[in-house]
Amino acid sequence: MHTLRNNRTLHQTEVVDIIDVTPRMRRITIVGESLPLLGIGLPGQWMKVFVPTPGDEPPAGRAYTIRQFDRAFGQIAFDVVLHGDDGPGSRWAGRARRGDRLDVGGPRAGHMIDRGAASYILAGDATALPAIAAILEALPDGCRAAAFLEVADKAEERYLTPHPDQTITWLHSGIFFPGTTGLIERAVKAASLETEDCQVWIAGESSMMRSIRAHLLLDRRIIHPAIESAGYWKLGTADHRERD
Ligand SMILES: Cc1cc2nc3c(=O)[nH]c(=O)nc-3n(C[C@H](O)[C@H](O)[C@H](O)COP(=O)(O)OP(=O)(O)OC[C@H]3O[C@@H](n4cnc5c(N)ncnc54)[C@H](O)[C@@H]3O)c2cc1C
Repeated sequence: MHTLRNNRTLHQTEVVDIIDVTPRMRRITIVGESLPLLGIGLPGQWMKVFVPTPGDEPPAGRAYTIRQFDRAFGQIAFDVVLHGDDGPGSRWAGRARRGDRLDVGGPRAGHMIDRGAASYILAGDATALPAIAAILEALPDGCRAAAFLEVADKAEERYLTPHPDQTITWLHSGIFFPGTTGLIERAVKAASLETEDCQVWIAGESSMMRSIRAHLLLDRRIIHPAIESAGYWKLGTADHRERD
């Protein structure tokens, strides 16, 4: 079933599974009658999930990446970073139960892999892991990739298992939120990178993303069309979103 909200089609879904992929990343699987009809096929596609809010407030729409799609069963799984109770998305995910009902809007654009690229550079914090994992899985055989990923600690690293052609540099934010420490920016700046004919994908906390993008454009001279970047959240701002 689907309904309309502000002229947008919303799909009615129900939570059928909840697992903790890592201590701070919770996978929510939803099922819905209209989900088999959705155009989902690219890594990094996302949707707006309307999560319940406390009191009489209407549900709040938050962006989450589609991590798995099972067309036959009409199921979508998305992974939520549990960053505390200060936002409705994270607060709801921390208490989610099978049977919870959610409206979802989308799907929205994903990442088009340039199959001719000589190498890939990826950078992101925990919120970008679902998209980065999907991009790494979709890269052509033999395509080298260097990924810079900031998570809270070592336990979060089990989120993905890289292919031997893929080098992952893990950064640990410790007591701070991943994406806010400056560690990932420093790691990218210090790295020896293959920038010839490369393709770049960066997402996560807005200031972090902008700093890495500026470095790759200005210092490494990577051309603008080779870089796709998105601010997935911004420290101190609710429901922040930006794309270049
Ligand atoms: C295209 C796209 C895809 C995304 N995919 C994912 C995904 O797959 N998984 C995922 O977890 N997130 C993803 N995000 C990020 C997610 O939408 C934001 O983190 C969102 O702000 C979370 O909503 P909230 O209700 O928890 O917090 P909000 O109400 O938006 O914010 C409340 C407070 O929490 C802070 N905050 C928000 N996010 C974080 C965070 N990650 N860490 C620490 N503090 C935070 C804000 O700065 C603010 O102060 C994606 C964003 C975009 C634009």
